[in-house]
Amino acid sequence: MTAGLRAAFRCFAGCPGEHPLTRAIYTCPRCGGLLAVAHDMDALRRTSGEAWRALFSSRGYGAPAPYASGVWSKREWVAPEVTDADVVSTVEGRTPLCPAPRLAAELGIAELAVKQSGTSHTGSFKDLGMTVLVSVVRQALREGAAQVRAIACASTGDTSAALAGYGAIAGLPVVVLLPRGLVSTAQLVQPLAHGAKVLALDTDFDGCMAIIKELAARGLVYLANSMNPLRIEGQKTVAFEIAEQRGWDVPDWVVLPSGNLGNAAALHAGFAMMADLGVTSRLPRLCVAQAARANPMVTAFKAGASAVSPMRAGETLATAIRIGNPVSAPRAMAALAAMRGVAEEATEDELAEAAARADRAGLYTCPHTGVALACAKKLRAEGVIGPRESVVVVSTASGLKFTEFKLAYHEGRAADVTSRLANAPIALPPDVERVAEAIAALGPSA
Ligand SMILES: *Cc1c(COP(=O)(O)O)cnc(C)c1O
Ligand SMILES: [Zn+2]
Repeated sequence: MTAGLRAAFRCFAGCPGEHPLTRAIYTCPRCGGLLAVAHDMDALRRTSGEAWRALFSSRGYGAPAPYASGVWSKREWVAPEVTDADVVSTVEGRTPLCPAPRLAAELGIAELAVKQSGTSHTGSFKDLGMTVLVSVVRQALREGAAQVRAIACASTGDTSAALAGYGAIAGLPVVVLLPRGLVSTAQLVQPLAHGAKVLALDTDFDGCMAIIKELAARGLVYLANSMNPLRIEGQKTVAFEIAEQRGWDVPDWVVLPSGNLGNAAALHAGFAMMADLGVTSRLPRLCVAQAARANPMVTAFKAGASAVSPMRAGETLATAIRIGNPVSAPRAMAALAAMRGVAEEATEDELAEAAARADRAGLYTCPHTGVALACAKKLRAEGVIGPRESVVVVSTASGLKFTEFKLAYHEGRAADVTSRLANAPIALPPDVERVAEAIAALGPSA
Protein backbone atom coordinates (compact mmCIF):
# COMPACT_ATOMS: atom_id res chain seq x y z
CA MET A 1 0.00 0.00 0.00
CA THR A 2 2.91 2.31 0.61
CA ALA A 3 4.44 2.13 -2.85
CA GLY A 4 4.22 5.37 -4.82
CA LEU A 5 2.67 7.45 -2.05
CA ARG A 6 4.02 10.97 -1.82
CA ALA A 7 3.47 14.26 -0.06
CA ALA A 8 4.70 17.81 -0.69
CA PHE A 9 4.39 21.39 0.62
CA ARG A 10 1.71 23.53 -1.02
CA CYS A 11 0.46 27.02 -0.33
CA PHE A 12 -2.36 26.91 2.25
CA ALA A 13 -4.16 29.73 0.40
CA GLY A 14 -4.00 27.84 -2.90
CA CYS A 15 -1.15 29.36 -4.94
CA PRO A 16 0.09 26.90 -7.59
CA GLY A 17 3.31 24.95 -7.11
CA GLU A 18 4.73 22.20 -4.91
CA HIS A 19 7.91 21.95 -2.86
CA PRO A 20 9.61 18.84 -1.47
CA LEU A 21 9.16 18.22 2.26
CA THR A 22 12.94 18.06 2.64
CA ARG A 23 13.32 21.69 1.55
CA ALA A 24 13.89 24.24 4.34
CA ILE A 25 10.93 26.42 3.42
CA TYR A 26 8.34 27.88 5.80
CA THR A 27 6.18 30.23 3.74
CA CYS A 28 4.69 30.27 0.25
CA PRO A 29 7.28 31.80 -2.13
CA ARG A 30 4.46 33.53 -4.07
CA CYS A 31 2.23 35.05 -1.38
CA GLY A 32 4.31 34.72 1.79
CA GLY A 33 1.45 32.88 3.52
CA LEU A 34 1.34 29.58 5.38
CA LEU A 35 2.20 26.24 3.82
CA ALA A 36 0.33 22.94 4.12
CA VAL A 37 1.40 19.36 3.47
CA ALA A 38 -0.58 17.94 0.56
CA HIS A 39 -0.86 14.18 0.19
CA ASP A 40 -1.57 12.32 -3.05
CA MET A 41 -5.18 11.66 -2.08
CA ASP A 42 -5.97 9.84 -5.35
CA ALA A 43 -3.29 7.29 -4.58
CA LEU A 44 -4.52 6.95 -0.98
CA ARG A 45 -8.13 6.51 -2.16
CA ARG A 46 -7.14 3.38 -4.08
CA THR A 47 -7.21 1.63 -0.72
CA SER A 48 -10.66 1.25 0.86
CA GLY A 49 -11.53 2.69 4.27
CA GLU A 50 -12.00 -0.84 5.54
CA ALA A 51 -8.54 -1.87 4.34
CA TRP A 52 -6.94 1.16 5.99
CA ARG A 53 -8.66 0.39 9.27
CA ALA A 54 -7.46 -3.22 9.09
CA LEU A 55 -3.89 -2.19 8.23
CA PHE A 56 -3.64 0.31 11.07
CA SER A 57 -5.25 -2.05 13.56
CA SER A 58 -2.79 -4.79 12.57
CA ARG A 59 0.10 -2.56 13.64
CA GLY A 60 -0.41 -3.07 17.34
CA TYR A 61 1.57 -3.07 20.49
CA GLY A 62 4.04 -5.69 19.33
CA ALA A 63 4.67 -4.26 15.86
CA PRO A 64 8.32 -3.92 14.78
CA ALA A 65 9.97 -0.47 14.62
CA PRO A 66 8.87 2.08 13.61
CA TYR A 67 5.27 0.75 13.64
CA ALA A 68 5.00 0.48 17.42
CA SER A 69 4.80 4.30 17.40
CA GLY A 70 1.30 5.74 17.19
CA VAL A 71 2.55 8.23 14.60
CA TRP A 72 4.57 5.89 12.39
CA SER A 73 1.90 3.18 12.49
CA LYS A 74 -0.02 5.65 10.27
CA ARG A 75 3.04 6.63 8.21
CA GLU A 76 1.27 6.40 4.81
CA TRP A 77 -0.97 9.27 5.93
CA VAL A 78 1.74 11.26 7.67
CA ALA A 79 5.10 11.25 5.88
CA PRO A 80 5.14 8.37 3.39
CA GLU A 81 8.59 9.08 1.97
CA VAL A 82 10.55 9.02 5.23
CA THR A 83 12.60 5.81 5.33
CA ASP A 84 12.93 3.57 8.39
CA ALA A 85 16.54 4.68 8.82
CA ASP A 86 15.56 8.34 9.05
CA VAL A 87 12.82 7.89 11.66
CA VAL A 88 13.63 9.53 15.01
CA SER A 89 11.08 8.09 17.41
CA THR A 90 10.38 7.61 21.11
CA VAL A 91 7.51 5.22 20.31
CA GLU A 92 5.27 8.26 20.81
CA GLY A 93 1.49 8.32 20.56
CA ARG A 94 -0.86 5.49 21.55
CA THR A 95 -1.86 7.62 24.52
CA PRO A 96 -4.88 6.62 26.66
CA LEU A 97 -8.40 7.78 25.88
CA CYS A 98 -9.49 7.77 29.49
CA PRO A 99 -13.21 7.68 30.38
CA ALA A 100 -14.08 10.21 33.09
CA PRO A 101 -17.54 9.13 34.35
CA ARG A 102 -17.44 10.98 37.69
CA LEU A 103 -16.49 14.22 36.00
CA ALA A 104 -19.08 13.62 33.26
CA ALA A 105 -21.82 13.24 35.90
CA GLU A 106 -20.75 16.50 37.59
CA LEU A 107 -20.87 18.38 34.28
CA GLY A 108 -24.06 16.75 33.03
CA ILE A 109 -22.21 15.41 29.98
CA ALA A 110 -23.52 12.11 28.67
CA GLU A 111 -20.12 10.68 27.82
CA LEU A 112 -16.77 12.31 28.60
CA ALA A 113 -13.31 10.95 27.85
CA VAL A 114 -9.91 12.60 28.17
CA LYS A 115 -7.30 11.98 25.48
CA GLN A 116 -4.13 11.92 27.55
CA SER A 117 -1.68 13.37 25.01
CA GLY A 118 0.60 14.41 27.86
CA THR A 119 1.35 10.76 28.62
CA SER A 120 4.31 10.92 26.30
CA HIS A 121 8.10 10.96 26.26
CA THR A 122 8.55 14.68 27.01
CA GLY A 123 5.16 15.07 28.66
CA SER A 124 3.11 16.81 25.97
CA PHE A 125 1.48 16.25 22.57
CA LYS A 126 4.36 18.18 20.97
CA ASP A 127 6.20 14.82 20.67
CA LEU A 128 3.78 13.77 17.92
CA GLY A 129 4.78 16.60 15.62
CA MET A 130 8.43 16.67 16.58
CA THR A 131 9.08 13.03 15.62
CA VAL A 132 7.99 13.88 12.07
CA LEU A 133 9.86 17.17 11.82
CA VAL A 134 13.17 15.82 13.15
CA SER A 135 12.88 12.69 10.99
CA VAL A 136 12.39 14.80 7.86
CA VAL A 137 15.38 16.95 8.85
CA ARG A 138 17.49 13.81 9.18
CA GLN A 139 16.31 12.67 5.74
CA ALA A 140 17.06 16.11 4.26
CA LEU A 141 20.58 16.07 5.72
CA ARG A 142 21.26 12.55 4.46
CA GLU A 143 20.04 13.45 0.98
CA GLY A 144 21.92 16.76 1.02
CA ALA A 145 18.64 18.60 0.42
CA ALA A 146 19.25 21.11 3.23
CA GLN A 147 22.09 22.49 5.33
CA VAL A 148 21.12 22.89 8.95
CA ARG A 149 23.30 24.63 11.54
CA ALA A 150 20.69 24.05 14.25
CA ILE A 151 17.02 23.21 14.58
CA ALA A 152 15.35 25.97 16.55
CA CYS A 153 12.04 27.06 18.02
CA ALA A 154 10.34 29.69 20.10
CA SER A 155 8.37 28.03 22.88
CA THR A 156 6.03 28.40 25.81
CA GLY A 157 7.85 25.36 27.25
CA ASP A 158 6.62 22.15 25.68
CA THR A 159 7.81 22.64 22.09
CA SER A 160 11.35 23.27 23.33
CA ALA A 161 11.24 20.19 25.58
CA ALA A 162 10.15 18.01 22.66
CA LEU A 163 12.60 19.51 20.17
CA ALA A 164 15.49 19.14 22.63
CA GLY A 165 14.57 15.51 23.30
CA TYR A 166 14.26 14.46 19.66
CA GLY A 167 17.29 16.51 18.67
CA ALA A 168 19.34 14.69 21.31
CA ILE A 169 18.19 11.29 20.04
CA ALA A 170 19.18 12.25 16.49
CA GLY A 171 22.41 13.94 17.62
CA LEU A 172 21.40 17.26 16.01
CA PRO A 173 22.11 20.70 17.53
CA VAL A 174 19.09 22.47 19.02
CA VAL A 175 18.50 26.14 19.95
CA VAL A 176 15.42 27.23 21.88
CA LEU A 177 14.09 30.73 22.55
CA LEU A 178 12.07 30.98 25.75
CA PRO A 179 10.28 33.95 27.32
CA ARG A 180 12.38 34.44 30.46
CA GLY A 181 10.59 33.43 33.68
CA LEU A 182 7.39 32.40 31.88
CA VAL A 183 7.82 28.61 31.65
CA SER A 184 7.58 26.06 34.47
CA THR A 185 10.72 24.74 36.18
CA ALA A 186 10.25 21.30 34.61
CA GLN A 187 9.91 22.86 31.15
CA LEU A 188 13.07 24.92 31.64
CA VAL A 189 15.08 21.93 32.88
CA GLN A 190 14.07 19.62 30.01
CA PRO A 191 16.00 21.39 27.19
CA LEU A 192 18.90 22.15 29.54
CA ALA A 193 19.21 18.47 30.41
CA HIS A 194 19.15 17.46 26.73
CA GLY A 195 22.00 19.83 25.95
CA ALA A 196 20.07 22.35 23.88
CA LYS A 197 21.26 25.95 23.76
CA VAL A 198 18.59 27.76 25.79
CA LEU A 199 18.23 31.48 25.11
CA ALA A 200 15.95 33.16 27.68
CA LEU A 201 14.65 36.44 26.26
CA ASP A 202 13.04 39.31 28.16
CA THR A 203 9.84 39.17 26.17
CA ASP A 204 6.75 36.97 25.80
CA PHE A 205 6.18 34.06 23.40
CA ASP A 206 5.03 36.34 20.58
CA GLY A 207 8.28 38.30 20.92
CA CYS A 208 10.33 35.07 20.75
CA MET A 209 8.31 33.92 17.73
CA ALA A 210 8.99 37.13 15.80
CA ILE A 211 12.74 36.68 16.34
CA ILE A 212 12.84 32.99 15.41
CA LYS A 213 10.90 33.71 12.18
CA GLU A 214 13.52 36.27 11.22
CA LEU A 215 16.40 33.87 12.03
CA ALA A 216 14.75 31.17 9.91
CA ALA A 217 14.13 33.60 7.04
CA ARG A 218 17.85 34.44 7.10
CA GLY A 219 18.64 30.73 6.84
CA LEU A 220 20.47 30.69 10.20
CA VAL A 221 18.30 27.96 11.72
CA TYR A 222 15.77 25.34 10.67
CA LEU A 223 12.33 26.35 12.04
CA ALA A 224 10.63 23.77 14.30
CA ASN A 225 7.53 25.79 15.28
CA SER A 226 4.13 24.62 14.03
CA MET A 227 4.25 27.32 11.37
CA ASN A 228 6.24 24.48 9.75
CA PRO A 229 3.41 22.14 8.69
CA LEU A 230 5.53 19.01 9.23
CA ARG A 231 4.56 19.36 12.90
CA ILE A 232 0.87 19.33 11.99
CA GLU A 233 1.28 16.07 10.05
CA GLY A 234 2.39 14.27 13.20
CA GLN A 235 -0.08 15.98 15.49
CA LYS A 236 -3.03 15.02 13.32
CA THR A 237 -2.57 11.41 14.51
CA VAL A 238 -4.37 12.47 17.72
CA ALA A 239 -7.54 12.52 15.61
CA PHE A 240 -6.75 9.09 14.15
CA GLU A 241 -6.19 7.65 17.61
CA ILE A 242 -9.39 9.14 19.07
CA ALA A 243 -11.39 7.51 16.28
CA GLU A 244 -9.52 4.20 16.47
CA GLN A 245 -9.95 4.04 20.25
CA ARG A 246 -13.69 4.50 19.76
CA GLY A 247 -13.92 1.64 17.25
CA TRP A 248 -13.39 4.03 14.29
CA ASP A 249 -16.22 6.25 15.41
CA VAL A 250 -15.85 9.98 16.12
CA PRO A 251 -17.27 11.74 19.19
CA ASP A 252 -19.83 14.54 18.82
CA TRP A 253 -17.36 17.08 20.22
CA VAL A 254 -13.62 17.54 20.66
CA VAL A 255 -12.52 20.30 23.06
CA LEU A 256 -8.94 21.48 22.61
CA PRO A 257 -6.84 23.95 24.64
CA SER A 258 -5.32 26.27 22.06
CA GLY A 259 -2.66 28.95 21.77
CA ASN A 260 -0.75 29.15 18.49
CA LEU A 261 -3.62 27.15 16.91
CA GLY A 262 -1.43 24.58 15.14
CA ASN A 263 -3.08 21.73 17.00
CA ALA A 264 -6.57 22.91 16.02
CA ALA A 265 -5.40 22.74 12.40
CA ALA A 266 -3.95 19.28 13.06
CA LEU A 267 -7.18 17.90 14.49
CA HIS A 268 -9.09 19.23 11.51
CA ALA A 269 -6.57 17.76 9.07
CA GLY A 270 -6.76 14.39 10.81
CA PHE A 271 -10.54 14.12 11.02
CA ALA A 272 -10.96 15.42 7.45
CA MET A 273 -8.48 12.88 6.09
CA MET A 274 -10.25 9.97 7.79
CA ALA A 275 -13.63 11.07 6.45
CA ASP A 276 -12.20 11.63 2.97
CA LEU A 277 -10.69 8.14 2.89
CA GLY A 278 -13.83 6.42 4.15
CA VAL A 279 -12.37 5.41 7.48
CA THR A 280 -14.98 7.42 9.40
CA SER A 281 -18.30 8.83 8.30
CA ARG A 282 -18.38 12.36 9.72
CA LEU A 283 -16.45 15.17 11.44
CA PRO A 284 -16.86 15.94 15.13
CA ARG A 285 -17.58 19.51 16.22
CA LEU A 286 -14.55 21.38 17.53
CA CYS A 287 -14.23 23.75 20.47
CA VAL A 288 -11.10 25.88 20.47
CA ALA A 289 -10.61 26.61 24.19
CA GLN A 290 -8.52 29.61 25.26
CA ALA A 291 -7.58 31.39 28.46
CA ALA A 292 -9.66 34.57 28.80
CA ARG A 293 -6.43 36.60 29.00
CA ALA A 294 -5.06 35.15 25.75
CA ASN A 295 -8.22 34.83 23.69
CA PRO A 296 -7.73 36.27 20.17
CA MET A 297 -9.62 33.37 18.56
CA VAL A 298 -12.55 33.70 20.97
CA THR A 299 -12.74 37.44 20.27
CA ALA A 300 -12.78 36.84 16.51
CA PHE A 301 -15.34 34.04 16.79
CA LYS A 302 -17.74 36.00 18.99
CA ALA A 303 -17.47 39.03 16.67
CA GLY A 304 -18.13 36.85 13.63
CA ALA A 305 -14.85 38.08 12.13
CA SER A 306 -13.23 36.20 9.27
CA ALA A 307 -9.68 36.78 10.55
CA VAL A 308 -8.01 36.83 13.96
CA SER A 309 -6.60 40.17 15.17
CA PRO A 310 -3.43 39.94 17.27
CA MET A 311 -3.65 41.06 20.91
CA ARG A 312 -1.21 41.37 23.77
CA ALA A 313 -1.62 38.20 25.83
CA GLY A 314 -1.94 38.78 29.56
CA GLU A 315 -0.59 36.80 32.49
CA THR A 316 -2.33 33.45 32.90
CA LEU A 317 -1.79 30.21 34.82
CA ALA A 318 -2.21 28.48 31.45
CA THR A 319 1.31 29.53 30.44
CA ALA A 320 1.62 27.21 27.42
CA ILE A 321 -1.26 28.97 25.66
CA ARG A 322 -0.30 32.54 26.56
CA ILE A 323 -0.17 33.63 22.91
CA GLY A 324 -1.67 36.80 21.45
CA ASN A 325 -0.64 36.49 17.80
CA PRO A 326 -1.35 32.88 16.78
CA VAL A 327 0.63 31.81 13.72
CA SER A 328 -1.90 29.21 12.56
CA ALA A 329 -4.96 31.48 12.87
CA PRO A 330 -5.97 31.08 9.17
CA ARG A 331 -5.68 27.30 9.46
CA ALA A 332 -7.80 27.32 12.62
CA MET A 333 -10.44 29.53 11.01
CA ALA A 334 -10.79 26.91 8.27
CA ALA A 335 -11.02 24.20 10.96
CA LEU A 336 -13.86 25.98 12.76
CA ALA A 337 -15.77 26.49 9.51
CA ALA A 338 -15.43 22.85 8.42
CA MET A 339 -16.19 21.36 11.83
CA ARG A 340 -19.09 23.65 12.83
CA GLY A 341 -16.72 24.77 15.54
CA VAL A 342 -16.94 27.25 18.37
CA ALA A 343 -14.37 29.15 20.43
CA GLU A 344 -14.81 29.51 24.19
CA GLU A 345 -12.73 30.92 27.03
CA ALA A 346 -12.05 30.24 30.71
CA THR A 347 -11.05 32.74 33.42
CA GLU A 348 -8.21 32.04 35.86
CA ASP A 349 -10.69 30.97 38.52
CA GLU A 350 -12.60 28.73 36.12
CA LEU A 351 -9.53 26.97 34.74
CA ALA A 352 -8.01 26.36 38.19
CA GLU A 353 -11.29 25.08 39.60
CA ALA A 354 -11.79 22.77 36.61
CA ALA A 355 -8.28 21.35 36.97
CA ALA A 356 -8.75 20.81 40.70
CA ARG A 357 -12.10 19.09 40.17
CA ALA A 358 -10.56 16.83 37.54
CA ASP A 359 -7.73 15.96 39.93
CA ARG A 360 -10.30 15.09 42.60
CA ALA A 361 -11.87 12.71 40.08
CA GLY A 362 -8.51 10.98 39.63
CA LEU A 363 -7.04 12.83 36.66
CA TYR A 364 -3.93 14.98 37.12
CA THR A 365 -4.40 17.81 34.69
CA CYS A 366 -2.23 20.66 33.49
CA PRO A 367 -3.80 24.16 33.59
CA HIS A 368 -4.45 24.06 29.82
CA THR A 369 -6.54 20.93 30.21
CA GLY A 370 -8.30 22.89 32.96
CA VAL A 371 -9.17 25.53 30.35
CA ALA A 372 -10.67 22.86 28.07
CA LEU A 373 -12.65 21.23 30.88
CA ALA A 374 -14.00 24.61 32.01
CA CYS A 375 -15.07 25.38 28.43
CA ALA A 376 -16.76 21.98 28.08
CA LYS A 377 -18.68 22.73 31.28
CA LYS A 378 -19.82 26.13 29.93
CA LEU A 379 -20.86 24.76 26.56
CA ARG A 380 -22.92 22.05 28.24
CA ALA A 381 -24.52 24.55 30.65
CA GLU A 382 -25.46 26.78 27.69
CA GLY A 383 -26.88 23.80 25.80
CA VAL A 384 -24.36 24.14 22.94
CA ILE A 385 -23.22 20.63 23.86
CA GLY A 386 -26.42 18.60 23.99
CA PRO A 387 -27.49 16.36 26.88
CA ARG A 388 -26.86 13.16 24.94
CA GLU A 389 -23.69 14.20 23.13
CA SER A 390 -20.26 12.59 23.59
CA VAL A 391 -17.25 14.77 24.34
CA VAL A 392 -13.50 14.15 24.11
CA VAL A 393 -11.33 16.70 25.92
CA VAL A 394 -7.74 16.69 24.68
CA SER A 395 -5.32 16.90 27.59
CA THR A 396 -2.24 18.50 26.06
CA ALA A 397 0.44 18.09 28.73
CA SER A 398 1.21 16.10 31.85
CA GLY A 399 0.13 17.66 35.14
CA LEU A 400 3.54 16.61 36.47
CA LYS A 401 5.15 19.52 34.61
CA PHE A 402 3.00 22.05 36.49
CA THR A 403 3.77 21.46 40.16
CA GLU A 404 4.06 25.22 40.85
CA PHE A 405 0.50 25.70 39.56
CA LYS A 406 -0.92 22.92 41.72
CA LEU A 407 0.98 23.91 44.85
CA ALA A 408 -0.09 27.55 44.50
CA TYR A 409 -3.70 26.38 44.20
CA HIS A 410 -3.60 24.12 47.24
CA GLU A 411 -1.77 26.74 49.31
CA GLY A 412 -4.43 29.29 48.33
CA ARG A 413 -2.03 31.70 46.64
CA ALA A 414 -2.85 31.35 42.93
CA ALA A 415 -3.56 34.82 41.52
CA ASP A 416 -7.25 35.61 40.93
CA VAL A 417 -8.29 32.13 42.05
CA THR A 418 -10.44 31.03 44.99
CA SER A 419 -9.08 27.65 46.10
CA ARG A 420 -12.36 25.94 46.96
CA LEU A 421 -10.77 22.49 46.86
CA ALA A 422 -7.52 23.39 48.63
CA ASN A 423 -5.96 20.40 50.37
CA ALA A 424 -2.91 21.18 52.50
CA PRO A 425 -0.78 18.71 54.44
CA ILE A 426 -1.38 18.41 58.21
CA ALA A 427 1.79 18.46 60.32
CA LEU A 428 1.67 16.18 63.39
CA PRO A 429 4.13 14.86 65.98
CA PRO A 430 5.13 11.18 65.53
CA ASP A 431 2.52 10.08 68.10
CA VAL A 432 0.17 7.21 67.29
CA GLU A 433 -2.73 8.72 69.31
CA ARG A 434 -2.54 12.03 67.48
CA VAL A 435 -2.37 10.24 64.13
CA ALA A 436 -5.32 8.03 65.10
CA GLU A 437 -7.33 11.15 66.04
CA ALA A 438 -6.62 12.69 62.66
CA ILE A 439 -7.87 9.58 60.92
CA ALA A 440 -10.98 9.38 63.15
CA ALA A 441 -11.75 12.99 62.15
CA LEU A 442 -12.38 11.73 58.60
CA GLY A 443 -15.77 10.52 59.88
CA PRO A 444 -17.48 7.16 59.26
CA SER A 445 -16.08 4.90 56.54
CA ALA A 446 -17.44 5.35 53.05
C1 LIG B 1 1.50 23.87 22.73
C2 LIG B 1 0.46 23.64 23.77
C3 LIG B 1 -0.88 23.98 23.58
C4 LIG B 1 -1.38 24.75 22.39
O1 LIG B 1 -1.20 24.17 21.14
P1 LIG B 1 -1.24 25.12 19.86
O2 LIG B 1 -0.97 24.23 18.73
O3 LIG B 1 -0.15 26.15 20.09
O4 LIG B 1 -2.57 25.76 19.84
C5 LIG B 1 -1.80 23.66 24.55
N1 LIG B 1 -1.42 23.04 25.68
C6 LIG B 1 -0.14 22.72 25.91
C7 LIG B 1 0.20 22.06 27.19
C8 LIG B 1 0.84 22.99 24.97
O5 LIG B 1 2.11 22.69 25.23
ZN1 LIG C 1 0.65 31.35 -1.60
